[in-house]
Amino acid sequence: MIFEQLGTYGHEQVVFCHNPDVGLKAIIAIHNTVLGPALGGTRMWPYASEQEALNDVLRLSRGMTYKNAVAGLNLGGGKAVIIGDPSKDKSEALFRAFGQFVDSQGGRYITAEDVGIDVSDMEYVYRETQFVTGVHQVHGGSGDPSPFTAYGTLQGLMATLNRKFGDEEVGKYSYAVQGLGHVGMEFAKLLKERGAKIFVTDINQARVDQAVSELGAEAVGLDEIYDVDVDVYSPCALGGTVNEKTLPRLKAKVICGAANNQLATNAIGDEVTRRGILYAPDYAVNAGGVMNISLEIDGYNRERAMRMMRTIYHNLGRIFEIADRDNIPTYQAADRLAEERIETIGKLKLPM
Ligand code: NAD
Repeated sequence: MIFEQLGTYGHEQVVFCHNPDVGLKAIIAIHNTVLGPALGGTRMWPYASEQEALNDVLRLSRGMTYKNAVAGLNLGGGKAVIIGDPSKDKSEALFRAFGQFVDSQGGRYITAEDVGIDVSDMEYVYRETQFVTGVHQVHGGSGDPSPFTAYGTLQGLMATLNRKFGDEEVGKYSYAVQGLGHVGMEFAKLLKERGAKIFVTDINQARVDQAVSELGAEAVGLDEIYDVDVDVYSPCALGGTVNEKTLPRLKAKVICGAANNQLATNAIGDEVTRRGILYAPDYAVNAGGVMNISLEIDGYNRERAMRMMRTIYHNLGRIFEIADRDNIPTYQAADRLAEERIETIGKLKLPM
């Protein structure tokens, strides 16, 4: 049953990590290492069942293979999940035991933070293994990735505007920014600096007030964000916001934002294309965070990180070329770019 599931997704290895003395139940999933060691964060979540945890780690690790491949990194895809409640099950011993399991992979899997895990948890993991990124800056870490993700999103936006409108003057266009969290607020600032007209919404009123007073943004209601007459809809909060209810309401000609899993279904992705809306694939656009932590592996350098973010512009260009070449929606073209890169580089490998 499990091997069947691994076969469907094409995983190389799945490691079940158990240390009952410290209450550790974790799963490390290594999806594909053709391009390099598998990089992807660790999520801590109170999964209702072990099967649910396995499903999540398989899905997320596969996603990392595609994201890292499209980002042009020499890294494969992996992910880990720890079954537990982050609000009450964390301890030094648990994270150190987890770190020992990461270390036992000998570098085939490199971890980082994900939902439920913060830098202080990674400090404990770091005591047991060097195969960890997203550690504190005192250990050569890179700190909060959000500003890099926002800057990378801007690069993706410029490529998308160019493709759709024939120029990339960010300030000429209007935007509906949904979500003003770590990435969304930073992204809105970048838009404002370029003179753009911005409409914003967030469930957190304080964030909305800040965007209005500091950025001159116009506040709209949580549901109203889908109806504003703008050039670009920029989802920077949750996934699944482009769906059968919202899509018919969108007036934007471009969808480009930092949120993960923006399209509710593949069918919606097809419909986006049919309606003449250009979708900038989420995992290509929001790769700034993973690019940033990937630089920790060889010694972090901020200048290099900023240069790397600018490659997102070119990655989007290649996705649009593939979409044209094969006459497919852009979400499929992103997957194809990843698969073609893995296939080509895989053939370069000398036999063992
Ligand atoms: P965050 O939690 O800091 O911000 C999310 C914001 O969205 C919050 O301000 C929240 O109040 C708001 N929000 C939640 N539900 C909303 C709703 N229904 N309508 C409007 N606003 C709502 O998270 P973040 O780090 O800024 O990440 C935002 C998105 O970008 C997520 O989907 C995340 O997975 C993705 N992402 C983030 C990074 C990164 O570097 N932080 C990297 C890649 C992808």
